[in-house]
Amino acid sequence: MTKIIDGKVISAAVKQRVADGVKELNAKGITVGLAVIIVGDDPASKVYVANKKKACEALGIISEEYALPESTTEEELLSLIKELNSKKSINGILCQLPLPKHLDEKIIINSILPEKDVDAFHPSNVGKIMIGDYDFVPCTPAGVMEMLKYENIDVEGKTCVVIGRSNIVGKPMGMLLLHKNGTVTICHSRTKNLKEICLTADILVAAVGRANFVTADMVKEGAVVIDVGMNRENGKLCGDVDYENVKDKASAITPVPGGVGPMTIAMLMQNTLTAAKKQNNCKE
Ligand code: NAP
Repeated sequence: MTKIIDGKVISAAVKQRVADGVKELNAKGITVGLAVIIVGDDPASKVYVANKKKACEALGIISEEYALPESTTEEELLSLIKELNSKKSINGILCQLPLPKHLDEKIIINSILPEKDVDAFHPSNVGKIMIGDYDFVPCTPAGVMEMLKYENIDVEGKTCVVIGRSNIVGKPMGMLLLHKNGTVTICHSRTKNLKEICLTADILVAAVGRANFVTADMVKEGAVVIDVGMNRENGKLCGDVDYENVKDKASAITPVPGGVGPMTIAMLMQNTLTAAKKQNNCKE
């Protein structure tokens, strides 16, 4: 029987853990605060920001939303980040991407204090992930690792194939699997023999951004299949994996929706709690 890995159940467990952690800090007189900056009117970004705010409220995390107009200058945005960097009640700062074209994402991300960079996009945090000594991990790969842990899927010695090499998902995903002693291959649009490589995978992670990209003939019998993709097809949310045809071949699989998606916000909440603990010298 294929195990359907339920992101709703696992994210609820993570959120409960975070809510308990927040309560413990509150009992010591410490609050936990997340600032979310959004520039412009991108509808998808607005939905993500609203969801993050809702999650914070449910877990006792104070959320501050800074909705700035599209016309915001780099100087104005940097000045806000500088203010939030030194604001004691704010433990985490997140700048919703993508930013309008006239703003340089690199400059903006680099201006967030690494210890408040709960998205783990700052080069300092990226470097820490590389050497395996990190506090924050980008939320989506962190969510995948949490799912594997929850389901007792051991990575050690497994052949892991990640399709996608973005800085947000593919690359950190590969590093986290490597840190757990998986043997990792990261594939991308120039990869030759993608199907053959995927067929070697005990754990296959798809982060491509193309609906039904991973077909059953690319999946080894009994593989664990993690679908990070979030695509819209005919108005319907679907992943990168041809779920209906792959699910009978896999030993475990994440659905879309209800798989990796709900984990991302839960791990953001976890990173915010970690930031608050670190900044207040509390033990993990
Ligand atoms: P991205 O930056 O567009 O990266 C896509 C990756 O897929 C690239 O590395 C690209 O290779 C590779 N790729 C494209 N076509 C390919 C092909 N034909 N064969 C092999 N590799 C191919 O996307 P992303 O930000 O990593 O996101 C990936 C997907 O995950 C999207 O659907 C996104 O919406 C979803 N996502 C979900 C969550 C969540 O919370 N569940 C969070 C983040 C992202 P090149 O580098 O060579 O171009």
